[in-house]
Amino acid sequence: MEEFIMSDRENTIDDVLKIAKNCRHYAMCKIDFLGTGVCASGLEEQYVSFYPEGRMDLYAALAEGTIPVTEKCVEIADSCNLCGKCDFQCYFVNEMRPSKVMKALKDHVSAYLESGGEIVSPEDDTVLTELKSIVGDFWATNDSAVRIAYHHDLCPHVTFKMPQYVVMPNSHEEISSIIRLLSNHKIPYVVRGNGASSHGLVFSEGVVMDLNRMKNIDFDEKNWSVKAGPGVASFTLQSEARKRGYRVHTAEPAALVCANIMTSGLLSTFSTTYGISADNFIDAEFIGRDGSFFSLNDKAAPNLFSFNNALSEHEAFAICVSVSMKLHPVTDDEEGILVPFESLEKALDFARECATRHIGLAIGILGGEFVSSFLAPTKKLATEAKDIFTKKLGMPYLVLFIGDRYALRSVRDMGQPAIDQKLFKTLSQGLPALHSAKWLDLLKELSEDEPFSYLRLGQFGDLAETALASFSSQLTEDIDSDLRPFFEGLYSRSEMTDLVWLNTFRILSSRYCREKPCVALVCYLPIDTSLINEIQDGLRDIAEKHHLKNEFGFITPIDSGKRCVWEYDYFFNHNDPDEISSIQLATHEAGALLDEYSEKTGTIRQVRYVVNQGCCRRENLLYL
Ligand code: SF4
Repeated sequence: MEEFIMSDRENTIDDVLKIAKNCRHYAMCKIDFLGTGVCASGLEEQYVSFYPEGRMDLYAALAEGTIPVTEKCVEIADSCNLCGKCDFQCYFVNEMRPSKVMKALKDHVSAYLESGGEIVSPEDDTVLTELKSIVGDFWATNDSAVRIAYHHDLCPHVTFKMPQYVVMPNSHEEISSIIRLLSNHKIPYVVRGNGASSHGLVFSEGVVMDLNRMKNIDFDEKNWSVKAGPGVASFTLQSEARKRGYRVHTAEPAALVCANIMTSGLLSTFSTTYGISADNFIDAEFIGRDGSFFSLNDKAAPNLFSFNNALSEHEAFAICVSVSMKLHPVTDDEEGILVPFESLEKALDFARECATRHIGLAIGILGGEFVSSFLAPTKKLATEAKDIFTKKLGMPYLVLFIGDRYALRSVRDMGQPAIDQKLFKTLSQGLPALHSAKWLDLLKELSEDEPFSYLRLGQFGDLAETALASFSSQLTEDIDSDLRPFFEGLYSRSEMTDLVWLNTFRILSSRYCREKPCVALVCYLPIDTSLINEIQDGLRDIAEKHHLKNEFGFITPIDSGKRCVWEYDYFFNHNDPDEISSIQLATHEAGALLDEYSEKTGTIRQVRYVVNQGCCRRENLLYL
């Protein structure tokens, strides 16, 4: 592993701390999305602090002197073998080298011990002793080296809280006993998913319950269903379904499926076909706040399918301990294309037309920011790619469309020129050469009468391939030299340019906040171009007033093309107090603007009001 660690002299404490404090809490280091394997100590010890994500928080806290060196801290530092797997993962997502932090953490602890520093041993109290009697000694702790990884994320709206205890139960019975114990002691608790909560829902001064040990997945293929425990991440479930020839509807790859469905409801480009909110599951099991067990199919179960269009109390009604989901069939002729548009209006018309006619499986209008940050392996190349798509190619909006051969034929019949799978691969791999490619300028002249008509020329794909093929090695040229061989191999894998695979597993979406984290303003609303443009102008004005980068995110048509899910993003630096103040003001104003439009139109639902009602019935959410 030594080759992965740059010389210590090259890494000042400030540089290392900067990396540690830039972790996005996406938990991509907790899933094996690159085939490198996952941090071994994390898999074994399970607490977040044993994964790279938690080690980043731990190092930052030690370097800033907010927690002491404790027993667990020494254990955590020792358990890292500097294998470097987290470098591959984090570099892919965020262009960062966490192993520098891991090395610094080990060095910090060794230096402290060598200088005779005392190891702090937190004492057990009555509550901790009782928690340990339920889950076993290892799985409940009040050690600050563990607790630190559960005390904050990037949400700019909430006050972070350091929990007094972290507990990792492994069964329904254990969860039930813990709830009863905490209720008796009047100790607050929350359940945490895999990393970030954009709504600040995962903090408690009492107990954080981490359900990551509960990773059971049970397939019932004869009934086309799969039951997933609360510790199962989307990527893992999707991988298991794929092995059996199915697809499940999941969202962000590292998101825990149960948490994702229950908090805000799960959304993806496949929502066009598979739906939203309660469409996404067959049944779900819960432990109530009184410790009792129920499933949604029980006659006496509380009505969790209802929806109240107001900010809910930020407390979940019950703890979801499993969801049963549908296994969707996959045909062997599924393919992805990108349909370019010069304006949002035209892209919306196309997306609505397809969804209304039930053409295609997954549809998403993507803006330049999404496309460029997804495609480019580095921030530098992403900036160039944005320019290429929006200015050089004149494609500020691209509709991602996935369908079988009949759906793709329908799009061709609709007369829409498109970037097909082969051209997408050519453009992705030849991205570094596009910026200086003079022949791109000729394309506009070639299609003056009809935008993008050159895409219909049978030979265009071959010509582009010939022009760009020799530049594919440049795709990795900005990557740290020691990591380059791995990334050269990675980007030559077929799935990395396969639009169906990329949209099914969604690993590229983790790059979206590579430059800066963002607050996503997400709404359900009718596909009404003038309404969307009007609101978008208002959101843009607010962000610009507060000097915040802001971008159109995506729009996916749902509900047979009547409505859509729309994301607009405000970016901010979570380590800059001025930008935190700005984002707080801007999101407050944006929320008020969206409330005003909701009131005026009666047709807009904001996802911030769905929080903790994610399993509601679609009809209650959209129609009432
Ligand atoms: S370098 Fe350390 S923290 Fe990173 S994956 Fe390897 S063992 Fe885990």
